Amino acid sequence: MYPQLAADRNELPRLLEAVQQHAAALLADLDERDVVPSVPVPPPTPLPAQGVGLEATLAEFAARWEPTLSASAGPRYLGFVTGGVTPAALAGDWMTATWDQNSFSSLDGAGQHLERESIAWLRGLFGLSGHHHGTFVSGATMSNTIGLATAREWLGERRGVSPAEDGVGGLGAVRVLSGAAHSSVSKGLSILGLGRTALIQVDTLPRREAVDPAALERALQEHEADGPCVVVASAGTVNTADFDDLRAIGALRERYGFWLHVDAAFGAFAALCPGYSHLVDGLDLADSICVDLHKWLNVPYDSAVQFTRRRDLQTAVFQNSAAYLGPLGDTPDTAHLTPENSHRLRAVAAWFTLRAYGRDGHREIVERCIACAHTLGDAIDSTPELRLLAPVRLNVVCFTLAEDPTAERLAALTGQLSDEVFLTPTVLDGVPALRAAFSNWRTTENDTRRVVTTLQGALHKL
Ligand SMILES: *Cc1c(COP(=O)(O)O)cnc(C)c1O
Repeated sequence: MYPQLAADRNELPRLLEAVQQHAAALLADLDERDVVPSVPVPPPTPLPAQGVGLEATLAEFAARWEPTLSASAGPRYLGFVTGGVTPAALAGDWMTATWDQNSFSSLDGAGQHLERESIAWLRGLFGLSGHHHGTFVSGATMSNTIGLATAREWLGERRGVSPAEDGVGGLGAVRVLSGAAHSSVSKGLSILGLGRTALIQVDTLPRREAVDPAALERALQEHEADGPCVVVASAGTVNTADFDDLRAIGALRERYGFWLHVDAAFGAFAALCPGYSHLVDGLDLADSICVDLHKWLNVPYDSAVQFTRRRDLQTAVFQNSAAYLGPLGDTPDTAHLTPENSHRLRAVAAWFTLRAYGRDGHREIVERCIACAHTLGDAIDSTPELRLLAPVRLNVVCFTLAEDPTAERLAALTGQLSDEVFLTPTVLDGVPALRAAFSNWRTTENDTRRVVTTLQGALHKL
């Protein structure tokens, strides 16, 4: 055995202790680190032939790379919809690597069963019925893509062809209708050979990102001659956390018979809170659903779940028949359900945080994030130099400068903030804007007041 490797094996308990202390110190300091450090990126170095062992490697990582990393796991990183890591999820992730299971088949051990138990817990969390089957995937983009792939096979079923067997050539025109689809939907359509131009944007309600059901009905009528289509509904848009009326869309499906995919990447978590669950009323009607877990469940990257009512179509697309995997059976292994074959037992981190904090603990996280978003929204509303671009519906605050809201001026503003808070730019109805998304269990009202103070200080320097 290579000497450094043998030495590390002999010293493993002490070395893990050192890593644990290093991680604990980092986390103790997380709230006070610069949110986005302005430290130059270290120049690349070639791979040395000789290894230095774990301890020296940790020291080098700490010296060269850690100062350059963002505090995205911390409480005032409000860019994108990023989430944090609960203590139990962190432990679960450590156990995932420790056990290093390849959870793709049920030939060895019960990893597949642990995944299924976790999926059942998540289904309960989001109020979904037992008609929905689910699997873990790496993120919402992959989850949306699997939903669209299953929809593609459904279109084939309706048209008497199998895209999975014979390719998309025989499928004919494919229309995907949506009000404000996430960019990952176009990416999925590209991957699947349906093409980005298959996506047809339907009008949204005035000053909203939610689809106008009347406009959707007109679009369905207009494309009726092309045969069945796909509707992608949004449950939580990234700019303003707006929600399509899923009940109204469900009623349209009764009449027009389309495949309904719902992108609920972070919006599904509204289901946890009595005051907000109406936003996802009708979610169970969907044929396929996307939910991210590395966002609001606060498990580490990368983790999401996809649900579908038509697992038979999903296996038609993703089955990986091989002599060593055995027959598909009634409950197919995940090798037959997702693009990946081998994959980590991602369910463990979700299982840990759900078991450790339960539905109540996760509801508290979601409710606190929403309360913080309202605090920031109210403060922006009463700041004359700023303007809210949408009411705070859930956990996202979308705002801009009251005067001369150019992308340059907004970049100058965020440039002043980056030690203290990270926001991401966007454009809403042609207006350059900023958005703050609350999705981390660490974020408190205190942090939110700190964000307000920092923002107001930066405005005066603009
Ligand atoms: C974040 C997000 C996605 C993409 O998620 P990834 O996890 O980055 O792949 C898709 N849809 C919505 C609504 C999102 O918020």
